[in-house]
Amino acid sequence: MKLQNIIDDVMEKGADYCDIRKERWNRTSLTLKDGDIEKVTSGKEEGAMVRVLYENGWGNIGTSDLDHLKETAQRALDVAKTSNEYKEEETGMAEVKTHEEKLEMGMKDNFLEIPIEEKVSFLKELEKQLDEDFVRSTELRYGDSVVDKEIATSDGTHVEMRIPRIVTYMVVTGKSDTIQRASEAVGGTGGYELTDEAYDKKDVVLERLETLLEADTPPSGKMSLIMDPHLTGVFSHEAFGHAAESDLVSTGNSCLEGKIGDKVASDMVTIKDDPTMEGYGSFPFDDEGTKARNRILVKEGTLNDFILDRENAWKLDMSPNGGARAEDFRVKPLVRMSNTIMEPGDMSFEELVEEVDKGVFAKSSGGGQVNPGEGTFQFNAQEAYLIEDGEILKPLRDVSFNGFTLKTLQNITGITKTMETGIGHCGKGQTAAVTDGGANVLISEVTVGGRE
Ligand SMILES: [Zn+2]
Repeated sequence: MKLQNIIDDVMEKGADYCDIRKERWNRTSLTLKDGDIEKVTSGKEEGAMVRVLYENGWGNIGTSDLDHLKETAQRALDVAKTSNEYKEEETGMAEVKTHEEKLEMGMKDNFLEIPIEEKVSFLKELEKQLDEDFVRSTELRYGDSVVDKEIATSDGTHVEMRIPRIVTYMVVTGKSDTIQRASEAVGGTGGYELTDEAYDKKDVVLERLETLLEADTPPSGKMSLIMDPHLTGVFSHEAFGHAAESDLVSTGNSCLEGKIGDKVASDMVTIKDDPTMEGYGSFPFDDEGTKARNRILVKEGTLNDFILDRENAWKLDMSPNGGARAEDFRVKPLVRMSNTIMEPGDMSFEELVEEVDKGVFAKSSGGGQVNPGEGTFQFNAQEAYLIEDGEILKPLRDVSFNGFTLKTLQNITGITKTMETGIGHCGKGQTAAVTDGGANVLISEVTVGGRE
């Protein structure tokens, strides 16, 4: 049965909105720990998510039974009617342009045609190349997935798309007087050709670990801090990007609520979230069938847009911009980022370092935490260096820094020309593949301290 007919049926029965997202997945993942294969999963699955809105109530049902979607849609309508009885707030779906399109994102080397043994050999070879005296332990993970999606809405959108994603993740651990670890991930939207990058990145990981094993503990207090492109990316995603998610804004959980048009950063700061650029978080349509487009969140220091799905756009009286993403057919879409980038500036790295009397150059993220409601963050750098009188000196370990996101964005006084991106997985109850990136960024006053 055509998705559109199922949708027409529940609309005739009184639904205000309905969409169906059918997905077919083909996934493989491998974990190699200290040379041993620890885990292999590989398989196909398919299913659908049916969402029905009745007045102000939602009925969302995920199912792997594709033969009875009509009955599932009826059940979703019944659930929507019941939830409407308990719902006090009004809701709706902001209008979008409808689309009828079929799109495939390409793979140069189709990883579905590569036998699993070859993927195991790839990890084994990578591990061999990571075998240095100072490496105590390694963990390598490989994952690929292709999803074929078909999305139909009661507004008349019908899109089909194929999205292939691939990732290789490496962690190395070593020990001097403390245990230190270094990690990197490579991959993106595309095919097996993207595994080649892992051989370049392995040198970065090894060098970082070797440096960390000889590093000193950092100074603490307020000082200048330079974030490298990867840390800039993580800052843009975690500290700023989450606060720009419209579901947090519309529920009063974002420090950016009511601030569109306000100055939230220094003039040199422009931050975008762009699913149409090349990256791990790219897609042609979001999981409500809205065409993906670039979102300029901050434009030369001024808050310009949020990441919006249709329901939160309705609540905030803004335009949806393709911000709805779901992990798979079992769950409804949430407001999520894609590829989040702080645009590069016009300085050279040398010029940036010359500006610093005393401070820290922090590289790559080692995790941290953010509170988008209060607008605070705390990040750990994987690698760091002391800067004194405009010169980069000795390596530091266990560097962490924290502050208020908007104050920190205002304190940005320099951005370099060259940009880099990194990939990762964002967790928000559901996992989403994302890219983030930027250039080297100088922040004039940051609270730096050792990690506890
Ligand atoms: Zn995140």
